[in-house]
This record gives sequence, structure tokens and C-alpha cells, in this order.
Amino acid sequence: MGDTGWARIHQGHGLDLDMLRADLIREHGDALPGQELRIRELHFGYAPRVMWCGQYGTPCELQGEWHGHWYEVQPSSDSAVTVAEWQQVPQETAVNA
Ligand SMILES: [Zn+2]
Repeated sequence: MGDTGWARIHQGHGLDLDMLRADLIREHGDALPGQELRIRELHFGYAPRVMWCGQYGTPCELQGEWHGHWYEVQPSSDSAVTVAEWQQVPQETAVNA
């Protein structure tokens, strides 16, 4: 999910950055040159088995197959998630050396 196509989703907010980075490296490999860790604290619900996830909002690339789908919800105490992913650093900030 997300613009980069691949992210790790953890329950809770205020998580340890080293843990998030280590988890991302373990599950997805280390950052490529020019990428950095991007952390977003959001509120998601999870549908463990859904075929047409467009009914939850924006459909993902798995729409039409049975899959587990995350979707954004109104904030509540048990919907807090942290999304961790590698993100390409914009050129403007990367050449500021
Ligand atoms: Zn989906």
C-alpha cells in the first residue's frame, strides 16, 4: 500500500524507530541509495478476508482476489497503526551538500 507500493504496518503509535527500521530491513531488505525511512502514524482497520476492497475506500492492487486489506478509519484507541516504508528522498533536499 502507499505510493511506494510496499510498507510494514505495526499496531500502536510512538514506536521505537530502531525497531521499525530493523523490521523493515528484515522483511523487505535495506534501503536503496537515496531512500530514507518514512514513518506515518495513522488509524487503520483490517479486513482479514475481502475480495472487493474498493468498498472500504481506495482499492489496492489485490482487489478481485481474496486478501487481507487495511483501510483508513476514524481515530479510536484500538485503530492506531504505524506505517513504515522506504521513501525516495526528493532531489531538492538530496543535493543540499
Ligand atoms: Zn485491498
